[in-house]
Amino acid sequence: MTLAVLASCALTGIDAPPVRVEVHLAPGLPSFTMVGLADTEVRESRERVRAALLSSGFDFPAGRLTVNLAPADLPKESGRFDLPIAVGVLLASGQIAMPSLAGRARARDAVPPLARLVLAGELSLTGALVPISGALAIALSLSRRQPGAELLLPAGSAGQAARVPGLRVYGAATLRDVVAHLEEKQVLAATARRVDATSGPPPCLSDVKGQYGARRALEVAAAGGHNLLMLGPPGSGKSMLAQRLAGLLPPLRHDDALEAAAIASLAPGPAPTFGLRPFRAPHHSVSGAALVGGGTRPRPGEITYAHLGVLFLDELPEFGRHVLDTLREPLETGRVSIARAQHRTEYPARFQLVAAMNPCRCGWHGSNVKACACTPDQVAAYRARLSGPLLDRIDLQVEVPAAGDDWADLPPGEPTDAVRPRVEAALDRQHRRQGCANAALAPGQVDDHCHPDTAARALWKQAMKQFAWSARTAHRVLKVARTVADLAGAEEIGSPHMAEAVQFRRPLRER
Ligand SMILES: [Zn+2]
Repeated sequence: MTLAVLASCALTGIDAPPVRVEVHLAPGLPSFTMVGLADTEVRESRERVRAALLSSGFDFPAGRLTVNLAPADLPKESGRFDLPIAVGVLLASGQIAMPSLAGRARARDAVPPLARLVLAGELSLTGALVPISGALAIALSLSRRQPGAELLLPAGSAGQAARVPGLRVYGAATLRDVVAHLEEKQVLAATARRVDATSGPPPCLSDVKGQYGARRALEVAAAGGHNLLMLGPPGSGKSMLAQRLAGLLPPLRHDDALEAAAIASLAPGPAPTFGLRPFRAPHHSVSGAALVGGGTRPRPGEITYAHLGVLFLDELPEFGRHVLDTLREPLETGRVSIARAQHRTEYPARFQLVAAMNPCRCGWHGSNVKACACTPDQVAAYRARLSGPLLDRIDLQVEVPAAGDDWADLPPGEPTDAVRPRVEAALDRQHRRQGCANAALAPGQVDDHCHPDTAARALWKQAMKQFAWSARTAHRVLKVARTVADLAGAEEIGSPHMAEAVQFRRPLRER
């Protein structure tokens, strides 16, 4: 054969569109050319493929070798094309004798025909296969795009990919193993579907003593999908509370767990526990690209890694203002789109935002534990660092006072397992009523689903006037009141529900 065609895939966002790898060998002066908008990494692949073939005991063919990665307009970064290119070179130069190509009768379920097999893997110079990033994202996307396809990956990536139901995954340690598999000399066993490791319970709310107001805000946040800002001095337990939000949410459905794991597979490092909602807490020095995603070769940011989970921003005013501003759109749309010259990459980013801040720069404004060293102007300036539009998108704002002297004698708080059923019941009501959590109601839907009774409406209108709320803010308060009513199992929003929602929205500067 002088032309070999193999199937591989690119990775844009968490989607893995197919890529055709064509390898052509023609007589002539030895050369090795790659076409199809391959960037630096793919060009480096040339050297790795050559070395890996030689180290594995194969010949590098003498002749004009041309590799085309199609379609040309897909961005193709990463070394995952090494494997299909190397196999293509071996096929084109006649170094692999595939029984199925020779038309030999094959046992059913033996080695799949090449047409059904998708290959992805980076080669080391020794011919070993190096794990690739995004293996689970590739597997998930492939199972949706091409039912019946089979995936051949480096052994180190196959376990992850094998989580996807209905997809056959093979893992190979070296190029020689791949060749032995294709020649049916030593067929690889399909990787067994991973049984999900049981994880320990998430951190429990009973660890937080006292702090009734903040615990209540956390419950309301969980019960309606609302974003939350906690204001309090250092050591008052804001981080502890934030870490306990994900545990209050209903467990992830299997589809969602797979999607979260597919996103996690794009990051280097060990995979987080499967099935747990993500919790991400980037430092305030984070760049805009690291927070929302970006770069010349688009990479997901923290908000995507927090998809279906919680993004915790501690010391909110310390984050760069323009960095925080980049959150505004994803907070509305639940996704982030990164445009590059020829391509647009979209990542999911449906996360719940929990932010925390000190009341002032020194941290002790309004505390009776320690005196604040800031002037009133400094306090005002500190709070003014938060942009209005971002604050506007945070439905719940609550104070977390410093722990008093009696802290050690307080009984343990209500445990997560006792609070979660209330949250689940409230979310259940919302999904049955309107198909989404209250926080996700579009402006046009709010009037349909959030009915205050006469007293509640009067209270709402009065607060709207007193605090000079925009229409957007007033709508958000209505949604929080709806959640409070859902927690109480009430059909209509009553004035106690509205009063609590208004309380969560008092302007920061008045506290
Ligand atoms: Zn201060």
